[in-house]
Amino acid sequence: MDLFPTMTEKAYESVHFFHDSRTGLRAIVALHDTTFGPGLGGTRAISTYETEAEAVDDALRLARGMTFKATLANIPFGGGKAVIMLPKEPFDRPALFEAFGRAVDTLGGRYITTEDAGTSPEDVAHMRRGTKHVVGMPREMGGSGDPSPFTAFGVVRGIEALAKFHFGRSDLEGLKVSILGVGHVGYPLARLLHERGVKLWVADVNPEATRRAAEELGAVVVSPEELLSLEVDVFAPCALGGAINDRSLPLLRCKAVAGSANNQLREDRHGKELYDRGIVYVPDYVINAGGLINVAQEVEGYDEQKSREKVSRIYDTVYAILERAKAENSRPEVVADRIVLERLAKAKAEKAA
Ligand code: NAD
Repeated sequence: MDLFPTMTEKAYESVHFFHDSRTGLRAIVALHDTTFGPGLGGTRAISTYETEAEAVDDALRLARGMTFKATLANIPFGGGKAVIMLPKEPFDRPALFEAFGRAVDTLGGRYITTEDAGTSPEDVAHMRRGTKHVVGMPREMGGSGDPSPFTAFGVVRGIEALAKFHFGRSDLEGLKVSILGVGHVGYPLARLLHERGVKLWVADVNPEATRRAAEELGAVVVSPEELLSLEVDVFAPCALGGAINDRSLPLLRCKAVAGSANNQLREDRHGKELYDRGIVYVPDYVINAGGLINVAQEVEGYDEQKSREKVSRIYDTVYAILERAKAENSRPEVVADRIVLERLAKAKAEKAA
């Protein structure tokens, strides 16, 4: 595995490997860019990596994604991510996560970790015993708690900006929105949209989730396949990644795609296909940054009101990206990436001067 060519090509700062014989810890921390502040990103803990290269790839890809997300969210953090290759045999989970916390501590605050796929609030509490460079603690422990309602609020603000710019509307009353996945983010999103007079369609593989949305919010429940072909203003993917793919694209009859899921485009070319079909895509990492903005607030001292105000500004960011994309005849996700690279280049040049 040759790391330096990748690190050079995509401008990674450092990759750290940690091992602890006592607990069986094997962890990788990738720091992509810390120009704007310490790398902030969750710890993914997975037992199914076939190879070390797979785990490194994940850490690298996710860390770079965090640089882009934090930069566009205007928070003073960079991109970092950790991956733990969990032992396949039984292990002492509290001890392993505490050992990981100590490993993070050796980076002296260049990396700040939090929960991610495969880690729980309990795991985060164990990490906290080894380092103070942890955010996303439960509210009862002085942390910012569940990020999902903030992510949902950010998505609503993004949809409001989209509605204003592309549909010329200053409220969402009567807008038609379909939501794929009414879980931790999708459900509060549905509730906030319902409060704004939006007509909702929902689909989820969990019937309990859709039942609640129908009973409490009057949402129309359809199958995931039916949902894709609805003639709605906005389709909001809020389940797994890759919702926009070769199979779903031909079915779509929405005017725009704007939801919380990470990596909504299965491949970059799917963004181009959306654009060619006249469907506006609001880049996922821009519109779903509310949870990150909220957790980042913990570093300077958690204040829920401040968090809400910052998340609310996702409206301005989305609006500016849509505006620039239209002016340049370009795609919003291309414009978003370019803004990030421009901001980083400018900040690096200023630092070097
Ligand atoms: P969740 O697991 O609580 O909700 C996902 C929902 O999607 C569940 O109800 C699940 O049953 C449903 N689902 C799964 N597969 C499906 C399928 N094939 N078809 C239909 N429904 C399906 O997760 P969440 O925290 O709400 O996150 C949703 C998405 O948003 C994820 O992609 C996540 O990475 C992303 N995201 C979440 C946050 C956050 O704050 N939680 C922040 C940024 C991005």
